[in-house]
Order: sequence, then structure tokens, then C-alpha cells
Amino acid sequence: MSKSRVNPTKQNVANLLVILDKIYPDAHCSLNFRTPFELLAATIMSAQATDVRVNIVTEQLFKRYRTVEEYAAASPEEVAEVIRTVGCFRNKARSVVGSAQIICTRYGGVVPATMEDLVTLPGVGRKTANVVLSNAFNVAGFAVDTHVKRVAFRLGLTTLVDPEKIEKELCALIPPLQWGHTSHLLIYHGRAVCKARKPDCECCPVEKQCAKCF
Ligand code: SF4
Repeated sequence: MSKSRVNPTKQNVANLLVILDKIYPDAHCSLNFRTPFELLAATIMSAQATDVRVNIVTEQLFKRYRTVEEYAAASPEEVAEVIRTVGCFRNKARSVVGSAQIICTRYGGVVPATMEDLVTLPGVGRKTANVVLSNAFNVAGFAVDTHVKRVAFRLGLTTLVDPEKIEKELCALIPPLQWGHTSHLLIYHGRAVCKARKPDCECCPVEKQCAKCF
């Protein structure tokens, strides 16, 4: 297949999103959380792990630790023991505890609500920060995960591979108020139809709008 893009004008993208929104009207963050810090911790843990697996692990974790202060006072080894069924659990436990400590010392125990501050926390890159901004604070943020990257590329919305550059490109095509929801729509579509190994193009509701770049 060609890697040339269909004309990804704002209008074309808006039309595409109307279709996806009809198919996935309840698209939302699949990670369970009650507080901004719980979402931050869950998103840190979701790297290279499914949201289903993370939700199983956080059910126990969130019972054991309730406040940011409790996470800050925990030892990474204790947290690692609870989350040991997710990949890279030792590093992730260090990031969760380290983030809590910084949030307590630098931000008075309140998760900061800016990209600039969030990316200073250990284990937190732009994707994690955007998940927290858009889902915990309702601040415009476009999380580019592996599904968004793949689906946007196949649809012809981007030819880039670097997630930060893809984020910038998609943000220029879509109004800020829709960034968070659009990320969820592409993730849902990537899980349900435009799967990594075998996209079901014959049954795809946006087949006519797709550049089918592989
Ligand atoms: S037509 Fe195929 S490649 Fe394009 S979005 Fe649908 S499933 Fe993905």
C-alpha cells in the first residue's frame, strides 16, 4: 500500500470523527481511578501492559494506599510486591513512589495540572501527562499511545513515527476541546477493528475515509 496521505484537512478529520463518535459514543479512559494521583500511578503502570491487567493490579494497590502521602511514605519494594504482575514492576514502583514524594515536597501533595510540571516526575512522559491532564483535570491533552500512533498512520492523518511529532500534527487538525475524546476514539477503534496484526478493513466504518497506509 502507498504511504501517501489522503488530504487530512480539518473538515475531513471532523467528518471522520463524527463517524467514529457514532460507533464509540462512550469512548473513555479504560483505566480505573478515583483521584488524579491514582490515574497518574495507573498510567505509569500501563506502559507495555494492558489496561485490563493494570486495573486488576490497581484494585489491590488502591485499597492499600489511599493518599499521595501514603504513597510517598511507602517503600518501592512494598509497592513492587503489589504490582508484580505488570511488566517492569520494579521501575514502575520506583516511579510511583518517587512521583508521590516530589508531589508532596514540591506541590503540597497536589498533582500538578500542567504539562511542564508533570513531565518532571519520574516515569512521566508526554503521553502519561496528557492522559492525566485530559482525564483527571479536563485540560486539553492529546495522548498518543501505540493504538493512536498506528490508527492515525493507517488513516493517513500522519506520516510520522515520533509520538511527540504525531501529537503536534493531530493537535493542529483537531480543536483542543476534542483532543482527549479523539484519543479515546482512536484507541477504541484500534482495539476493536484496526488491530495491530490484522485490521478488519472490510468491516471498518471509516474504510471510505482511510488511506490504508501500511
Ligand atoms: S480501513 Fe483498515 S486500516 Fe483503515 S482504519 Fe479501517 S481497519 Fe484501519
